[in-house]
Amino acid sequence: MRKLCVLIAEDSEDDAMLLLRELRKGGYDPEYERVDSADALAHALAAREWDLVISDYVMPGFSGLDALRMVRENGNKLPFIMVSGKMGEETAVEVMRAGAQDYVLKGRFARMLPAIERELRDAEERRQAEEDKKIAAVQWQTTFDAAHDLFLLLDKEYRITRVNQAALRLLGLPAGAIIGRHCYDLIHGTDAPPPECPLTKFYNTRVHEEAEFLNTKFNIWLSASVDPVFDENGNIVQIVHILRDITERKRSEEAFLAQFRQISTIFDELSVIVYVIDPVTSELLYLNKFGTSIFGTDWQGRDVKEVIPGDHPHLCPLTVMSPDSHGAESNAQHIFDSKNPLTNRWYHCVEKKISWVDGRLVHVTVAVDITDLKDMMQMKDELLSAVSHEMRTPLTAISGYIDLILEDNLEEEILREYLAIIQKESLRLNELLINFLSLQQLKAKSPIDNCKPVALRPLLEEVAKLFMAQSAKHRILIDLMEDLPAILVDEGSLHRVLNNLVFNAIKYSPEGGDVLIGAQRGANETVTLWVKDEGIGMPPEVLEKIFDRFYQVESGDRRTFSGAGLGLALVRETVKTHGGEVWVESVLGKGSTFFISLPSAPFLTPGPEGFAPPSA
Ligand code: ADP
Repeated sequence: MRKLCVLIAEDSEDDAMLLLRELRKGGYDPEYERVDSADALAHALAAREWDLVISDYVMPGFSGLDALRMVRENGNKLPFIMVSGKMGEETAVEVMRAGAQDYVLKGRFARMLPAIERELRDAEERRQAEEDKKIAAVQWQTTFDAAHDLFLLLDKEYRITRVNQAALRLLGLPAGAIIGRHCYDLIHGTDAPPPECPLTKFYNTRVHEEAEFLNTKFNIWLSASVDPVFDENGNIVQIVHILRDITERKRSEEAFLAQFRQISTIFDELSVIVYVIDPVTSELLYLNKFGTSIFGTDWQGRDVKEVIPGDHPHLCPLTVMSPDSHGAESNAQHIFDSKNPLTNRWYHCVEKKISWVDGRLVHVTVAVDITDLKDMMQMKDELLSAVSHEMRTPLTAISGYIDLILEDNLEEEILREYLAIIQKESLRLNELLINFLSLQQLKAKSPIDNCKPVALRPLLEEVAKLFMAQSAKHRILIDLMEDLPAILVDEGSLHRVLNNLVFNAIKYSPEGGDVLIGAQRGANETVTLWVKDEGIGMPPEVLEKIFDRFYQVESGDRRTFSGAGLGLALVRETVKTHGGEVWVESVLGKGSTFFISLPSAPFLTPGPEGFAPPSA
């Protein structure tokens, strides 16, 4: 049997008994009180809690509707069932409108039980919902008050309607002195929100706004946000304004920046590139002075790929240390060499993750220009392989012919032929070594230190004499302008330059011909020398490249000419270090002319007794 506290408004004791019997039959153990007047009903309602009210519709001096109104006073939702001897449709509607849960005709009590059942269940659900609402309200209030951030709820006139404990603590005022006032009045002591406060922006935008700013009234840094709350028609009914004290974070950011500024003055003194990027957004956060001298001063806040552009491999480390590839390994360091296509230079880079001012992980990179070192290393490698290859050929020939000479009793003619080959190969070896060593020396120290005025005629004659004996097929001719001024050179170096040019002129004229060595005054106090041959010539597209180290023209039968591709490189390097220029004119199959222009020594003209000042 289920307990049921039922209040019965009924003038007939018998009808009440009938009702009770029906309830017991339905499995209820009713605890009841019967009332038949308004006073008695009021008294009973106040005396205790009831599960249900069952009321007769008609009673002498007191109606069922009166009873219903009394129960519903003060929002009481107690289930109410109206009972009546007879009830028309209109009355039933009136009863339901007045707030009764159901109505039942006397004598049809069988319908009453399910109605009671349903009403009790609904009442329990309502009670539970009320309870949940109360708990939620307490939970919300507790959370609201427990938060360290300042919560201010504002009405649409921007007046405070509610604040949490954190706000009360900062303002040092009781809630009563705060509610109804404007937050800017309390927090900033102003009669409008300051321009930095997101509320100012919110006036116009009506959407979420946030900002960080210094509050001068309390001397604290605030991070503030504003969010509107809308009703179902889209009208703003409330504004949620949350403020957070971020003074500590700001102070440590300032300390970090001050420290970084100090360090960056050191970075600015260095001739290396130092830069910091955010690997997630690829924003360039810092670039030192040396870096700006290369990549420009307009870098702040820009994408690193715009400022330091380039395909892989490039200076920008985004492809090297991606944010995910090293995850939390903030100590990870990456060392790599990279060529930047913008500067066309090689950099040795050390990249490391560090914590930036706001705590995010960023990449700092120090990049040292190692182009010269790379060039030297590359040159060393090329030299080693070229020299070892080129030396092997003459050495093999020399040792092969020496073996032949030693083994057999050779006829004198053949012996001479072999010795000539050995001599030719030794000369070739000698040429190779001289060029190789000269290039090395040029790298190590400038021959300009040994410059002195050199008279050209004796020098050119000496060179011509050297080669005359070597080839019967070639004529070596000299074409010199009279009164040529002396030139300021290191004599040994110029000798080697001319040797190389004449050597080539002969080598690349296999059918023989004239080789002309000439000189004349050039513009701007220079002297132009040339070496002209009638040899195989060169196609125009190679003329730019033949002065590069190890470059050899690869068309036709040229491969049959021995050489290491060092001769013209030495010519160019030497002429360059003397402040001069070198160029070539050539026609394939007709011959080539190499020109050298060198500064003259204008006040010295060579005479029979040596140098004398030029005649006016
Ligand atoms: P190599 O040891 O190959 O002679 P060089 O540096 O002296 O090296 O010359 C580079 C290339 O330039 C040669 O391989 C050759 O093809 C071309 N060259 C140099 N001088 C002449 C010339 N007088 N006539 C035609 N081609 C020449």
